Amino acid sequence: MIKGTELLVKALKEEGVDTLFAYPGGQAVDIFDALYGEEDIDVILPRHEQALIHAADGYARSTGKVGVCLVTSGPGATNLVTGIATANYDSVPLVCITGQVPLGLMGNDAFQEVDIVGITNSISKYSVTVRRREDLGRIIKEAFYIARTGKPGPVVIDIPKDIQVAMGSEEYPSEVNIRGYKPNESVHVGQIKKAVAALKKAKKPLFLVGGGVNISGANESMKKLVEITGAPIITTIMGKGAVPTDHPLYLGNIGIHGSYAANHAVSECDVLFSIGTRFNDRITGKISEFAKNAKIIHIDIDSASISKNIVVDIPVVADAKLAIDTILEFAAPLNISQWVNTALEWKEKYPITMKKYDGLTPEKVINYINENFDKPIVTTDVGQNQLWTTQYIKLEGNRQLLTSGGLGTMGYGFPAAIGAQLGNPDKTVIAISGDGGMQMNIQELATAVVYELPLILVVFNNGYLGNVRQWQELFYNKRYSSTCLKYRKGCDRQCGLCGTPDEKCMTYVPDFVKLAESYEAQGIRVFNEEEMAAAFEKAKQHKNGPTLIEFIIEREANVSPMVPTGKTLADMIMDC
Ligand code: FAD
Repeated sequence: MIKGTELLVKALKEEGVDTLFAYPGGQAVDIFDALYGEEDIDVILPRHEQALIHAADGYARSTGKVGVCLVTSGPGATNLVTGIATANYDSVPLVCITGQVPLGLMGNDAFQEVDIVGITNSISKYSVTVRRREDLGRIIKEAFYIARTGKPGPVVIDIPKDIQVAMGSEEYPSEVNIRGYKPNESVHVGQIKKAVAALKKAKKPLFLVGGGVNISGANESMKKLVEITGAPIITTIMGKGAVPTDHPLYLGNIGIHGSYAANHAVSECDVLFSIGTRFNDRITGKISEFAKNAKIIHIDIDSASISKNIVVDIPVVADAKLAIDTILEFAAPLNISQWVNTALEWKEKYPITMKKYDGLTPEKVINYINENFDKPIVTTDVGQNQLWTTQYIKLEGNRQLLTSGGLGTMGYGFPAAIGAQLGNPDKTVIAISGDGGMQMNIQELATAVVYELPLILVVFNNGYLGNVRQWQELFYNKRYSSTCLKYRKGCDRQCGLCGTPDEKCMTYVPDFVKLAESYEAQGIRVFNEEEMAAAFEKAKQHKNGPTLIEFIIEREANVSPMVPTGKTLADMIMDC
């Protein structure tokens, strides 16, 4: 007979958990006690539970393993909520263990009690309270299985304090059998043959590849399929890296900030062969006009994703790798040279660039990273920094770009980089943020310093919440309402000339260099292109802690191109 907490630790080890992102508190203290001195599990203590779960998420996305969180009840649990939703939208496997008040107090508005299962029901793959000690092992086993199989996602296990300390069996099940949850592990060959037949008839076929291809590790297979058929390929930002971004047939990202070639190819193709994407509104533009000349094939592991946003002609419910490998048995070169030439001409003629801006631009910084780092893992925050990164970063493969796509969670990038670095100690990890998002989890400088993580933190500082400011510039007559981060009491908020420095403006809020130094991290400020190489070199040399490089960029630089809300993908504003 062992305690519930001891069974939990045993279960974590049997599930292969080597890193646990954990923040203690009253209703979890017994679990921490069971972890004390445990050598097989690294217990990482971030400085805020929101950052903790993003770190577990970054660990999971970059390693392919399940990320595991442990927090206390009440505020510990609610601080996970944004991270649970973030992981849910982007199909990230997490197991989140929350302490809970004893069963007898539940429902009494007890101290630090919240109904975390109720709160997370709609934003997790599964969430459950353990009500009997004898169910604990089975529930943990099921949680890991549910998190990592099918469409991966976050699972919440809420464990009341009395269950934690109750004695019971030490047995941890080796198998799972969940009635009503049987992820699809096969592929319907008849549907695959239909899809291949449509592809062979096409005069203008196009592959649209999403996050599902990266999740299933189908990258090599996808590249083979593109090369055998010779058809052009576009990706969502979650699918980026599915084939190397310098592949000659790769046209770029689709979507509201996609490339001209990708968006026009979707609008003109006659067969859209889509794999592992959920046709989110950021990629469809005006839905009634989306790929309106095309027969649409859709391969997805989640049947709920099929015909949810876009009605498809040939659905295939299957794992992307299994499906693509089956397609490869039937695939053949296509006779489509005219179409390919047209698409490649678009790519050549309308590249994405920030050349119109003088001086230091995010494009130049990201190109420096492309040219001077070998396959780094790059995380982004949310906003312009994210969009520039997804436009300019070059990727050779999978699990290299971590970004909060579906929920768009500011504050994600830096802690996700912490998790990625912990999971990949031998790789370079670079977090790209804006000055807004960086401040949302800036306290994690402490975590990066104490665990001696050699992260490179790139902060694009324009003194604005730039993505919203861009919308205000383009669609709200430059009324920069609450987007200037340099605002100080006494500024004339109505002036609409926030791009013009004023004696009342704050110079640095915060002074990122001093802030980094106060945590014993390295801080560097870069004003122009000439200083860039030296800053990155200095960062590379700083091997036992993070370096924050703040790039002072043009205040009102925009992300181009852009599809305004309600417009079709072909109605892009090329130069915002
Ligand atoms: P996911 O959302 O990750 O979906 C993956 C799909 O694959 C799901 O349907 C899932 O069921 C399926 N799947 C999972 N595992 C497997 C498997 N093993 N086999 C097969 N299928 C599987 N995105 C863009 O692309 N372009 C933009 O211009 C753009 N602009 C954005 C702007 C902002 C400010 C933000 C925050 C986000 C933006 N996004 C953009 C991201 C966008 O919101 C979505 O996150 C993204 O489009 C989703 O891509 P996806 O459907 O390919 O991936």
